Amino acid sequence: MAKVLCVLYDDPTDGYPTSYARDDLPAIDHYPGGQTAPTPGTVDFTPGHLLGSVSGELGLRRFLEDAGHTLVVTSDKDGDGSVFDSELPDADVVISQPFWPAYLTPDRIAAAKNLKLAITAGIGSDHVDLDAAIAHGVTVAEVTYCNSISVAEHVVMTTLALVRNYLPSHRVVLDGGWNIADCVARSYDLEGMHVGTVAAGRIGLAVLRRLAPFDVRLHYTDRHRLPVAVEEELGLTFHESAAAMVPHCDVVTVNAPLHPETEGLFGDELIATMKRGAYLVNTARARIVDRDAVERALRGGQLAGYAGDVWFPQPAPADHPWRTMPHHGMTPHISGSSLSAQARYAAGTREILESWFAGRPIRDEYLIVDGGALAGAGAHSYSVGG
Ligand code: NDP
Repeated sequence: MAKVLCVLYDDPTDGYPTSYARDDLPAIDHYPGGQTAPTPGTVDFTPGHLLGSVSGELGLRRFLEDAGHTLVVTSDKDGDGSVFDSELPDADVVISQPFWPAYLTPDRIAAAKNLKLAITAGIGSDHVDLDAAIAHGVTVAEVTYCNSISVAEHVVMTTLALVRNYLPSHRVVLDGGWNIADCVARSYDLEGMHVGTVAAGRIGLAVLRRLAPFDVRLHYTDRHRLPVAVEEELGLTFHESAAAMVPHCDVVTVNAPLHPETEGLFGDELIATMKRGAYLVNTARARIVDRDAVERALRGGQLAGYAGDVWFPQPAPADHPWRTMPHHGMTPHISGSSLSAQARYAAGTREILESWFAGRPIRDEYLIVDGGALAGAGAHSYSVGG
């Protein structure tokens, strides 16, 4: 029987919800391109309920305990003597979400003698040291596509919020004011702007598709080029690299995984080549940009705005400079954890566990590392050796 150690974010400050704003979720059984949404045998939760916090338990407890397994759920993941560290040495499976990542460092992986499977309940497994997972034969899997559209919606929302100066204008209302000029002195239309994405995978392409009706000029860079038909349909301009693309763009959105090729990509040097007053939207991973270079560029006016929801480390400390830098539209890491997304990644986590316990292969599209090497989706989108 297995011990499953699950690290989830805390419940709401006023307690686990007893009612919800809406009664149902739209039924989504396929993603763009045809991949099916998760297909576990069954689920023991109500889609639309809060599943990603400690009391939600990703809806896994009954399933695991009925089969004789042990489930430990905690939010206490960092610092000396954390529950995570004390429970890790005999855990067979670790589950965590990128929003509240259980960092599986080389030291922790070495300490976790029984660890065989690390599941990301979401997308993006950079909180797991993939080199160490490969060396120790740990399988890493994530729920590919479960929240890609959720994130794409957030990218569109924050792009518009920055360009149109939405958040400061909302603040004027909250503060009882009515100075129109305060609101509009930094407000523009997105129409006609050049928007580029670093990576046109599931999220990046969904962003391009959603922005096309705004009559913008669309650009992208990626390791693999999109089909010609897609480029023509959306009027895309392809660039060989981020460096080649960003000087042309008014808005740049980052939608690549964090791995050795992308870490630190947006530093002082690259940001200096962007148009003065460009906007940078990063919902991918914080360490793809240089924290202090972003703050400098906002204070100096090279960037007109920065938004996203990814920080390092997570949770971000109270004195993180991005909380107080000017012209930002940051949120905590939430874009991929809407109640809609939670229902999908909880089901996907269960599907992965059902396959694992039954000795069936995990879907190739969910695999990041398997059999001591990058595998499945991971072999396509990640690199190791960082
Ligand atoms: P995909 O795997 O579908 O897309 C990733 C894309 O990045 C692929 O097209 C890949 O290229 C491309 N890529 C990889 N390396 C580079 C590089 N060096 N330069 C340019 N492009 C590169 O993943 P998703 O779109 O679903 O997710 C992307 C990332 O977004 C995740 O890895 C995660 O970090 C983040 N994310 C954030 C969430 C949030 O809540 N904020 C939620 C979900 C994801 P190719 O495959 O062509 O080699």
